[in-house]
Amino acid sequence: LFIVLICINSYAQSKKYKDTSKSIEDRISLLMKEMTLEEKVGQMNQYNGSWDVTGPKPESGSNEEKYNNIKKGWVGSMLTIRGVKQVRAAQKIAVEESRLGIPLLFGFDVIHGYKTISPIPLAEAASWDLEAIKNSARVAALEASASGLNWTFAPNVDISNDARWGRVMEGAGEDPYLGSKIAVARVNGFQGKNFDNTSIIACAKHFAAYGFVEAGREYNSVDMSTSKLYNTVLPPFKAVSDAGVRTFMNSFNTLNGIPATGNSFLQRDILKGAWGFKGFVVSDWASIGEMVTHGYAADNADAAKKAAIAGSDMDMESNVYITELVQLVKKGQVKESIIDDAVRRILRVKFELGLFENPYKYCDEAREKTDIGSKANNDDVLDMAKKSIVLLKNDKNILPLKKSGVKIALIGALANDKNSPLGSWRIAADDNTAVSVLEGMQQYKDNSLVYEKGTEVALNKQAFVDEVKINTTDFSGFEAAKKAAKEAEVVIMVLGEIGFQSGEARSRTQLDLPGNQQQLLEEVYKVNPNIVLVLNNGRPLALPWAAVHIPAIVEAWQLGTQSGNAVAQVLYGDYNPSGKLPMSFPRNVGQCPIYYNLYNTGRPTDKDQNVFWSHYSDVEKTPLYPFGYGLSYTSFAYKNLKIAKPSFQKGEKIEVSVDVTNTGNFDGKEIVQLYINDPAASIARPVKELKGFELIELKKGETKTVQFILTDNELGFYDNNGKFLVEPGVFNVMAGWNSNDGLTGKFELK
Ligand code: BGC
Repeated sequence: LFIVLICINSYAQSKKYKDTSKSIEDRISLLMKEMTLEEKVGQMNQYNGSWDVTGPKPESGSNEEKYNNIKKGWVGSMLTIRGVKQVRAAQKIAVEESRLGIPLLFGFDVIHGYKTISPIPLAEAASWDLEAIKNSARVAALEASASGLNWTFAPNVDISNDARWGRVMEGAGEDPYLGSKIAVARVNGFQGKNFDNTSIIACAKHFAAYGFVEAGREYNSVDMSTSKLYNTVLPPFKAVSDAGVRTFMNSFNTLNGIPATGNSFLQRDILKGAWGFKGFVVSDWASIGEMVTHGYAADNADAAKKAAIAGSDMDMESNVYITELVQLVKKGQVKESIIDDAVRRILRVKFELGLFENPYKYCDEAREKTDIGSKANNDDVLDMAKKSIVLLKNDKNILPLKKSGVKIALIGALANDKNSPLGSWRIAADDNTAVSVLEGMQQYKDNSLVYEKGTEVALNKQAFVDEVKINTTDFSGFEAAKKAAKEAEVVIMVLGEIGFQSGEARSRTQLDLPGNQQQLLEEVYKVNPNIVLVLNNGRPLALPWAAVHIPAIVEAWQLGTQSGNAVAQVLYGDYNPSGKLPMSFPRNVGQCPIYYNLYNTGRPTDKDQNVFWSHYSDVEKTPLYPFGYGLSYTSFAYKNLKIAKPSFQKGEKIEVSVDVTNTGNFDGKEIVQLYINDPAASIARPVKELKGFELIELKKGETKTVQFILTDNELGFYDNNGKFLVEPGVFNVMAGWNSNDGLTGKFELK
């Protein structure tokens, strides 16, 4: 009897972590007491799932090993497995066949939509519409969670000012203030409220400074001052850490010689130390193992040791934690407390999600049928797509188009492309599921519409291609395109990049229209200059010829599933565009990196604007289109910039207001932007910094007063030791319609 009692008692003890009346921290402690070192290290192991989990169990190779390790409780998370059946099957192995039954996290790159694709993140950023962006992430979470997933590797919050870098399509552009607001909106959208079964855990990536790889060249190294790191790179990460994002992903790059993955300063001192982050850090794909090739670790064991000590909690696909860490602990080279800390962080997320109570929480076959690809989701991504469009030029009011009696020629391979608008990073979406511009335009039946491809954009449409091999030398479609243009009143040309020309591993040295599209544009222009150029691209392009010659330019990025409908509704004026660029568009590639929040030089080159730009002698010093730039079918006038007082005490709220009037012929929306400049500081400050914005709707003739509040948070900056300073002195203020133009004033901070 005694032995039976002991057994019952120890069984009860071991299940105590299931007691929901206890705090999560206590439950973690109870569970960890039950775990062997191998099982703890197992939680730190993430595998890519690449077999049919519902099928027969794999009998050989890495899949067999993965299967067996899930069974042993040596896996904390899987990525890429998706669909309720697959997820349920994999979860079942972990929960029902492993000793402790700890549920798995299922991660996936839900970057801009799951199956119903929203605009690429850079495009969404152009909306400056935080509610819409949050909602877009919510739609993605709704679909991903209905497919069994509980974790997305998003948002990408990498600030970047180099359009050559392919991954600018995944971020929110060049500005840390706008980037922070958007990052928080996305996290809130993904994670939702209370972790119900439509919430997925978000992941802020890539920590850190990946957006500053040298010369925009993918996977390159980063050298950066502490002040730049703190003032430009870290703000969005800090903002989402404060907002409760549950995971971070580190990055492939080195930062000042140390791989981000092995970077204790970033992960331990800043993230988990100064910011008090309680979630966990997952490595980037194989980035722990890559520390060997970086020249920072001697072998896999050394890499595992360095990454774990530096605060990388979970190993994505390097396979080095599961093979090396147990031995490293046994040899005393990694303290068990490091493992315990990582495991506690990972388990905390699983407890918070409620997976211990219901590991199949996300496995709802009914939801999988109703919540993916629904009409409501399509309506939402269409709304987001329209809000993301930026009108760059509209001379002679060529837009909006008249709805009847107009002969239109639609030209360009991208006009009839149902795949490219989905952009990069839309793994779960089926190919060719976007509404093309041609299909969108065909909805407007009272005009005549002729379509001609003209030319291919790129010959090789695969991922990770060598761009040199993809340009076409085929000009055979030009004649038909010119003939169609000649016979039309208005020519719509849809040109730009195919969907896979931006994204990971797609840096470019040219920011032109790939292939012979520029020649096509110029040839068509000769026969009919009445052209509306619709751009489809995943990054800023440098199109100086078009900016001079083409009367109307619409930046339509890669807008997702509803792309063509959004473009058509904007071209026909059923939606008045209001987007503003989240990244500067250069005049030529040699200007890169180019960004609005640069520093003055000592040399006056533009005294009128009080901006002493550095410059080249063969091109104008400004970008082609600045950050914050975008037009509307209506026009807006700014008046009466008011600053409440001439001087303020530190800590006081500084009220700034400006009157904006809709002076044109359409109702419209305007993004009113507030910039500051600190002209004399202990560390030189940028010529301008965005510190507020407001998206307002104005009817024809209507005026609104827009109020901004500046506090120490907006006026201060980080010094070269990472210390936040608020320094007294004069501050310049600009209420602008873009980063270059606005009404200016000043105040003093005492
Ligand atoms: C990318 C990450 C992504 C991961 C998993 C990596 O190559 O850098 O952003 O989340 O793969 O797919």
